[in-house]
Amino acid sequence: MNLTDLSTVRDIMERFGISTKKKYGQNFLINQSVPERIAREGTGIQNCGVLEIGPGIGTLTACLCKNAKKVVAVEIDDSLIPVLDYTLAEFDNVTVLHADILKTPLQPLMDNYFSDCDCVYVCANLPYYITSDILMYLIESGIPFKALTVMVQKEFADRIVAPAGSADYGAVTAAVQYFGKPQKLFKVAPGNFLPAPKVDSAVLRIDLYEEKPVKPQNEALFRRIIRLAFEQRRKTLVNALAGKVPISKEALSDILVSLSLPADVRGEKLSVEQFAMISDRIHSTEQAAL
Ligand code: SAM
Repeated sequence: MNLTDLSTVRDIMERFGISTKKKYGQNFLINQSVPERIAREGTGIQNCGVLEIGPGIGTLTACLCKNAKKVVAVEIDDSLIPVLDYTLAEFDNVTVLHADILKTPLQPLMDNYFSDCDCVYVCANLPYYITSDILMYLIESGIPFKALTVMVQKEFADRIVAPAGSADYGAVTAAVQYFGKPQKLFKVAPGNFLPAPKVDSAVLRIDLYEEKPVKPQNEALFRRIIRLAFEQRRKTLVNALAGKVPISKEALSDILVSLSLPADVRGEKLSVEQFAMISDRIHSTEQAAL
């Protein structure tokens, strides 16, 4: 079954009485080369498992089934479950779970389905209305996914790969770059989807670090500093953190100067490494004052 052929897609939708739902961010792929490329570039190691978020009618899922030992696809829309039973009938290495990924405990899912796989990838054409939530949920879970390869809005992909100091760099950039190494694989134009979204898309691959290169002493503080720094990104870091971290403005300025940074530096100029150094100094100052 060619799930990117428009008349096949329309037949399936008619047969199951479904239409694409905006509230679930449903834009189905209709160009076969795109899911094939995601499956190819998003996996690689033999004997691997793949977790897919939002299989839709199974277009990318079918390609993943050919590339992986096992695929688990989590879909929120109950009307798509019988469709997936039908479109994926030829594959015996797929499990479709009817669930909201953001409410799915990931460790039990890994234990139940992937214990016999050498590694697990995430591949998905993500619903754009919750891209960032899903990505952070997966990354922050602590599950050692080999890589996450996801279709997102092009602007979002640009933000994730942005270097410190650029206009696109923000809290989500620093958070993702703390956990892994992101790269933009390729752009995808609106005409590759049904319905066509109003924005360009891009496929992003994030290779999670087995050993994080940056290790803040107090990860919660480090994450909070990044969030605060970008909540009011036009403010200097000292002003953005003032009253919200347990040391004075003067002590904060001293820390920046001791790290050879301008006292009026803004968070948007700071790399993940520099955020970690600042966080460590604040943490030590706080500990010393106890
Ligand atoms: N993978 C299909 C494709 O590429 O043609 C569909 C991708 S579509 C952009 C996003 C999919 O995610 C939809 O099937 C939607 O129902 C599903 N979805 C949306 N929110 C979800 C959630 N919280 N948990 C699981 N699936 C979700």
